[in-house]
Amino acid sequence: MKQAITLAELRSWVTATRARGERIGLVPTMGFLHEGHLALIRQARSDAEIDRVVVSIFVNPLQFGPREDYHTYPRDPERDRELVREAGADLLFTPAVEEMYPPGFATRVEVQGKLTTVLCGRSRPGHFQGVATVITKLFNLVGPDSAYFGLKDAQQVAVIQRLVADLNFPVRIKVHPTVREPDGLAMSSRNTYLSPEERKAATVLYRALCSAQSLAHSGERRISELEEHLRRIIRTEPRARLDYAEILSWPDLEAAECLEPGKIYLMAVAAYLGRTRLIDNLLLEVHP
Ligand code: AMP
Repeated sequence: MKQAITLAELRSWVTATRARGERIGLVPTMGFLHEGHLALIRQARSDAEIDRVVVSIFVNPLQFGPREDYHTYPRDPERDRELVREAGADLLFTPAVEEMYPPGFATRVEVQGKLTTVLCGRSRPGHFQGVATVITKLFNLVGPDSAYFGLKDAQQVAVIQRLVADLNFPVRIKVHPTVREPDGLAMSSRNTYLSPEERKAATVLYRALCSAQSLAHSGERRISELEEHLRRIIRTEPRARLDYAEILSWPDLEAAECLEPGKIYLMAVAAYLGRTRLIDNLLLEVHP
């Protein structure tokens, strides 16, 4: 496996790879890798439409708010490098911040409207602008044929699909289901912030989602009732402080009153466990 740190190193690898007619898959990450990230890399590796896999590790300052955890975000470059190599990537791209955002950098890419103003967009203003900007840069730099994202960050998937359609990026977006711990907690680099008590309490998010899903499958179609059910369960956990629990149409993220059979909805929750903000979601589909 090769590693590129500068844009020049990345460009020369990409140019040589393209010259051989090889198709490139890109897995963008912020590092501190876990099984969720590795599942994306393996998906890219085994994708018959792809010849070479690029993994990027870049903690993108643009997508963190001023009071968020940019400076304390966990980092372990040596361990990550080994994991990326074992998972079968061909190139690891680990640029410095100054390489991605040199002095004078002044451009932002913004997906407007509902997709970026509901859910995490409301709690984290500017977050999706930071995501859209860095993903645009990575797509321009790597020119991937396919790019791989986790459904764990479902709103990010919806935003990126819009971005790709609107700006005509010639890239296929491939989505991997959320990888979970045995007790249901969605894997996240931020889980490492949790104390043992918070870690136990954090399972309330997935329990709430599963319970609301059962309620919907047993016939409850009123979205306000299902949302209230989610909130009630999260409130049973004294260590959890609810940010949001909402059910919106997927992938447009529009509000609705009732679940309609045949349509897909996103049940999304966010809560603070101590100072750590965790998100989780399930896609919900009801049958006639
Ligand atoms: P991050 O490093 O948190 O920015 O995540 C990089 C990519 O890995 C994103 O596409 C995430 O959605 C994906 N990802 C993170 N956690 C998980 C998980 N538990 N299951 C599946 N994909 C994940």
